[in-house]
Amino acid sequence: MIAIAKSTNLEPTRLPLITNYPSFRKWNKSFLDENLADKPMCIYVHIPFCTQRCSFCYYKTVDLKEYRPEVDSYIDTLCQEFEMAAERFNLSDRPIHAVYFGGGTPSLLVEHQFEKLVAALRKNFKHFDDKVQFSLEAEPLTISKSKMDTLADLGVTRLSMGVQSFEDEIIKLSGRGHDAKKAFHAIETAQKAGQGQWTINIDLLSGLAGETDETWASSVKQAIGTGVESITVYKMEAFANTDVFQKGVRQEKINLPDEEQEMRFMQYAMDRFAEFNYLPWSFFTYTKDGCDESKYISSIWRGMDFYGFGASAFGTLGDSILQNASELDQYGAMIEKGELPLQRGYHFHSFDRMLREVLMGVKLLRFDLKGFKHRHGLRLEKICAPIINELEAEGFITLTKETLELTNKGILYGDYVGKTITDALKAFA
Ligand code: SF4
Repeated sequence: MIAIAKSTNLEPTRLPLITNYPSFRKWNKSFLDENLADKPMCIYVHIPFCTQRCSFCYYKTVDLKEYRPEVDSYIDTLCQEFEMAAERFNLSDRPIHAVYFGGGTPSLLVEHQFEKLVAALRKNFKHFDDKVQFSLEAEPLTISKSKMDTLADLGVTRLSMGVQSFEDEIIKLSGRGHDAKKAFHAIETAQKAGQGQWTINIDLLSGLAGETDETWASSVKQAIGTGVESITVYKMEAFANTDVFQKGVRQEKINLPDEEQEMRFMQYAMDRFAEFNYLPWSFFTYTKDGCDESKYISSIWRGMDFYGFGASAFGTLGDSILQNASELDQYGAMIEKGELPLQRGYHFHSFDRMLREVLMGVKLLRFDLKGFKHRHGLRLEKICAPIINELEAEGFITLTKETLELTNKGILYGDYVGKTITDALKAFA
């Protein structure tokens, strides 16, 4: 499957001293421009609170039914963490490529909390200006006109709303608090407030309990009908820590759509997206006429550094991955003691980097083979030739001299292509 260095007949000779590698001839000035400037990075801010507990959710979140004072103290702690991390890792002067507020449900914060967080970020990251793509995850029940106006004033440019379904029965079964009417109202409120300033993405979840071909088709059509710029379809996974698994699947009270049905749902969505010219930039996000892309997600998948702030948040700096304490109490206590709340990490070796680059990069549909050769000195299409040729013959990918591109079939199978190639690469280790 993979080329292995061939043995030769040894012919020992006493060689002149090799003083360096690679030879001076390969050194050039353009390297300096590329590598000595401050490298851009992204910022992730984690808000671990939600107003509900969705049955399919496997994240660790704090369920807040109403406003609670601990949210204010969490905001203060985050502001302290911005300052401590910026100083400790010299981040203040680095160009900022994208800022992303994720969760949990960031949109449950109230106006003054957003203002405080954004002011603290701008103070500690000099290049977080109005040109930076600033995304925020939102949930329909937490959207109000005044909040949207505040977010527009603060420079948010991309709003990503978890809707999951537009069918009331399915939404109810998923444990969410809104219904289709409230979702439409929230989308409309956000569209009016952010006109011209932000794009809106809505998330749908394929494979929810109770979903049929008809309910799914209806949700996809209604999502397109809202006119949002971007639609993302995630595949529902019933992990063992989810309510849907513990209270439903395990006790055989709930049957989830099977693999074949779920695949049909995704194929249906892809056909409708193509019909309305929603074009993919990753294998699960489609945007109207290709007008939008989450710079945060695409950049970190291409290997850009990002720093994760907040309880359980993680990020990468150079060859390290760093994660904060996941318990809120511990996170707060460490900051109070003047320590960064880091709990664990990992050092990527160069082979990890290579695997990660393929696995994450293929999600963006067009993998840059030339860039891979430039960074690793290896031609992926050569070292994994048999498996790559097979994927091409089976219609999952097409190859050009410089890129490996997912076909519609490759997109439909999600991470299959990336996983297959990295498995082949691992045989090299
Ligand atoms: S709103 Fe999102 S993060 Fe919160 S429980 Fe539901 S799926 Fe999980």
